Amino acid sequence: MEYLIEQLTVVCGADKVKRDEPMSAHTTFRIGGTADVWIEPSGEDGLCEAVALCRKAGVPFVVIGNGSNLLVSDDGYRGVVICLRRGLEKLEIEGNIIRAEAGVLLARVASEAMKTGLAGLEFASGIPGCIGGAVVMNAGAYGGEMKQVLTRVHVLMPDGAHVWIPVEEMGLGYRTSCIPACGGIVTAVEFRLQPGEPSAIKARMDELNRSRREKQPLEYPSAGSTFKRPEGHFAGKLIQDAGLAGYSVGGARVSEKHCGFVINQGGATAADVMELCRQISERVKDQFGVSLEMEVRTLGM
Ligand SMILES: Cc1cc2nc3c(=O)[nH]c(=O)nc-3n(C[C@H](O)[C@H](O)[C@H](O)COP(=O)(O)OP(=O)(O)OC[C@H]3O[C@@H](n4cnc5c(N)ncnc54)[C@H](O)[C@@H]3O)c2cc1C
Repeated sequence: MEYLIEQLTVVCGADKVKRDEPMSAHTTFRIGGTADVWIEPSGEDGLCEAVALCRKAGVPFVVIGNGSNLLVSDDGYRGVVICLRRGLEKLEIEGNIIRAEAGVLLARVASEAMKTGLAGLEFASGIPGCIGGAVVMNAGAYGGEMKQVLTRVHVLMPDGAHVWIPVEEMGLGYRTSCIPACGGIVTAVEFRLQPGEPSAIKARMDELNRSRREKQPLEYPSAGSTFKRPEGHFAGKLIQDAGLAGYSVGGARVSEKHCGFVINQGGATAADVMELCRQISERVKDQFGVSLEMEVRTLGM
């Protein structure tokens, strides 16, 4: 590990490599033990070199964006966490095409699109993730999803190949893509948008963000909707109807404002969240016969 850290320091720079980094500082849940190593490579070349070094050393690694859909174990992660949020941030607009590196925040792409008079990403402006994470999750809201606006995705494959994958081959479904199964890393994304009036685009974004503030417990740390929407139901409604609004385990609580959100009301551990989710799933299954599936991804458990 020591030799790997030395090499990662050469590739990323000393200020971009940290040991025993608390993951609670890098997840919107504000939960998680330490990662052995935390790195923020710069650009696609830096990312490729860092990945190659980890593979050569046989050390496990994981790539993350903004940590907004992530629950990290209280024991942390034994390996290298590669964060793209600050190192892969290029964005270019050419006509109605936007190309963005994986670390660009959705809010920034949506805002740049709006200023340029490009419509189609309004739905994404309030989703607090990076482009890479949004593609992996096929993030969506208010009737829109990444699948509708993507043309192709640039992926670093496990064998080191760089490929542009057309959207039709990305296996994008409800909060899924082919990326976890193929072990690829999303490095950049291309969108095709439609011409629109900036003031109208902004008005729509403002309206959706107002609705989020009214309906979602944004004042508490969380990872957004905890469970996927089961076919024919809404997870939040089932949880509410099961009488679980405000129910808590340790510091983890079912939000009264939106029962689809498990929030960290202060000092929650990953174990609290997992136990609360287990009890929620059990109660909903018993009362309504519906199985809930986690939307939040876990790390280190
Ligand atoms: C308040 C709140 C509201 C939310 N609202 C919504 C919503 O309306 N709709 C919605 O869909 N989601 C929503 N989310 C969830 C979350 O913001 C999205 O899933 C987002 O797309 C995750 O992006 P991220 O960069 O934070 O990914 P992370 O949480 O960092 O990672 C998510 C997963 O993707 C993997 N990953 C990340 N980047 C890459 C990459 N470049 N290559 C390969 N794998 C990668 C990670 O390993 C992890 O498994 C919300 C979250 C919060 C906290």
